[in-house]
Amino acid sequence: MYFLADFLFDGNQIISNAFVEVDTDGRILAVGKVDELKDNTISYQKLDGLLMPGFVNTHCHLELSHMENKVSTGTGLLPFIKGVMSLRESEDKEILKAIHDQDQYMWENGIQAVGDISNKTDTIEKKKSSSIIYHSFIEMFDLLSPKLTERAYEQYRQVYDKYQAEELRSSAVPHAPYTVTQDLFQQINKTNTTKTTISIHNQETEAEDQLFILGKGAFLTFYEDLNLPLNNFQATYESSIHYIMKHMDPKHRYIFVHNTQTTEHDIAAAQNWNEDIYWCTCPNANLYIENRLPNYQSFINQNAKMTIGTDSLTSNWQLSILEEMKTIHRFNSYLEITELLKWATINGAEALGLQNSLGSISVGKNPGLVLVENFEIGNIQNCTAIRLA
Ligand SMILES: [Zn+2]
Repeated sequence: MYFLADFLFDGNQIISNAFVEVDTDGRILAVGKVDELKDNTISYQKLDGLLMPGFVNTHCHLELSHMENKVSTGTGLLPFIKGVMSLRESEDKEILKAIHDQDQYMWENGIQAVGDISNKTDTIEKKKSSSIIYHSFIEMFDLLSPKLTERAYEQYRQVYDKYQAEELRSSAVPHAPYTVTQDLFQQINKTNTTKTTISIHNQETEAEDQLFILGKGAFLTFYEDLNLPLNNFQATYESSIHYIMKHMDPKHRYIFVHNTQTTEHDIAAAQNWNEDIYWCTCPNANLYIENRLPNYQSFINQNAKMTIGTDSLTSNWQLSILEEMKTIHRFNSYLEITELLKWATINGAEALGLQNSLGSISVGKNPGLVLVENFEIGNIQNCTAIRLA
């Protein structure tokens, strides 16, 4: 089957007047300029817009899909977390329905693969049957409290073991520098025996760096209020990302998520520590929670590999990578659309170790095909995405 399109993004560049040939399973058989098509007797479908590979969402929490509109916007990270903690448990039926609906929404909106944070086993059944390829990050935290480390590890280890038993792609990961003790980092390192992708929330709020650099700030009161005062906590005199680098195993591939406070110096230090680093931006969640965005220019200056995530419906209005791209470009129109398309596809596929089959329209891959309608070079604000294959 042949598709012809005004524009085609192949994972690297935008080609005008292009074609792609796919088999019935969506595998790419050929791709190129329409002029190169020698046989003019073929039947084809002509499309208006930009044809592109399926999106890769490198940061989601599918299990939180039932929390839409439950926490206020614009309060800052710590009040946001308190807001989440104060919600009562939802019914299982409601949780499972929201997981099902959002998996379907992401698929219909062109998302091919998802890096999904999981603290529980609620999403396992959906992941077994979904058309989306998931890598589940089994997330662990002990609230920086040594007395909770062993119990926290046991609890999340059980979740990890269930994922492994179901042969679902998964790895054990730390939640964030401000919630994980050195001992829990070590347990996580021991759990991931072969090279995998590790995801961690990083530098999402000013208080995070204040805690590590000065041993002060809003986290002290936050933990006192939880009756877990940070009595033994030692400031490290460096930003929080250095605490991660000090305690995590550099043999793995990393996705640092959020990075709204990350400086060019931090980026350079991390890329010095490990060449296999991806920086995931979740702009709508950043605006929802803290009303700020990362300084994208710092990442570009450091040749950082960027990816895009939706985060969860607790802190977003929808789970759509195209909507995240629009937000980035609305406030940073100096960024090239081709660059954003790479963040949304091939970079994400590499970050999840799925680049052999996803992320670009290349012969032999099965990346999914998405048509972006109302596409103009330089303006994506009116675009909508439709899945073709
Ligand atoms: Zn998150």
